[in-house]
Amino acid sequence: MKSVTVPGIRAMCFCYCLVAVSVTATAQPTVRWLAHDMQRPRPPVIAPAKQVLPVLPPSDAIVLFDGTGLSKWRDAEGGPAKWKSQDGYMESVPNSGYIYTADKFGDVQLHVEWAAPLPAKGRSQGRGNSGVFLMGLYEVQVLDSYENDTYPDGQAAAIYGQYPPLVNACLPPGQWQSYDIVFHRPRFHEDGTLAKPARLTVHHNGILVQDGRELWGPTAWLQSLPYKSHPDKLHLSLQDHGNPVRYRNLWLRELQESTEEGPPAEPRRKTVELAADQLQRFVGAYQGPLGEFGTIELKGDQLQLHAKMGQVIDLLPMSATEFAMRWTAGKLVFEVKESGQVAGFTMHLGGEEYPIRRVPAAQSAE
Ligand code: MG
Repeated sequence: MKSVTVPGIRAMCFCYCLVAVSVTATAQPTVRWLAHDMQRPRPPVIAPAKQVLPVLPPSDAIVLFDGTGLSKWRDAEGGPAKWKSQDGYMESVPNSGYIYTADKFGDVQLHVEWAAPLPAKGRSQGRGNSGVFLMGLYEVQVLDSYENDTYPDGQAAAIYGQYPPLVNACLPPGQWQSYDIVFHRPRFHEDGTLAKPARLTVHHNGILVQDGRELWGPTAWLQSLPYKSHPDKLHLSLQDHGNPVRYRNLWLRELQESTEEGPPAEPRRKTVELAADQLQRFVGAYQGPLGEFGTIELKGDQLQLHAKMGQVIDLLPMSATEFAMRWTAGKLVFEVKESGQVAGFTMHLGGEEYPIRRVPAAQSAE
């Protein structure tokens, strides 16, 4: 970029210019913004459909607040939380401080219901501000964003200072609204360096507003902070930002780490070798109780089931009459008559058995 010499203009360009940093496969340029930039496009405002609230916890949920007191919450020093709890909700008491769950959590599915103060007071970041801090570090912003403009990375359901929501699905102040959050904590190597960033998915009033966003570090005001290695579980917190925001019906489900990944592994089943004539006898048309099922064909030395619905399944011989399906936990057990003719097979799949009959050669040739 050519240097601009008028100091004022240069400063403005520095503050407000978008920086095209890369081009995706679909040729859409990606952009980066300074934090809290008022030039950033506003997410479209949409009206969510009426929701049925509260959404009650399922049987495996850990209930953080059921409307009957703050026993699961602490202040920053570990003492009793100083927010109000009454009439089934809790309310941030201005200047009482953030509150923290007594327990610590890592990966979670979290349900939150909140309501901004009515009548609305203040503007921009001063109206109905609070926040849900996963692990006390990663904030999903709570703000009264109903007809209240602010910087987009700080509006309701923004990942604060990082990502605006995809749309503004905020309800008017005083109305109960919901966040449904899926959070995956960052992973760190043993030497403390980042292995995998934190990831957030958020639904606001049932609308997807954060779609598996990867965070570049803890959320922050006026700063862009790098990750610092931290424990796998930390206290979840709610922000006191000086506004009496209400919460109710908070629950979460701890998510277990998945050890599964990718397509099926090459089968570990023990197979046998069958001569070509032993394979050839299975070739032909087959039918199930509902009619045509498919054909068995021999391609080179590979026996294949060509199902009527289009699937082509390699059959691996485990004995003279039993064949495994290459990528599936199932098998075909053939019935062979004394004459050596194949009468049909039983398909074993998903705990069920399906009888399949061979179509007599004369009939199949018709
Ligand atoms: Mg906040």
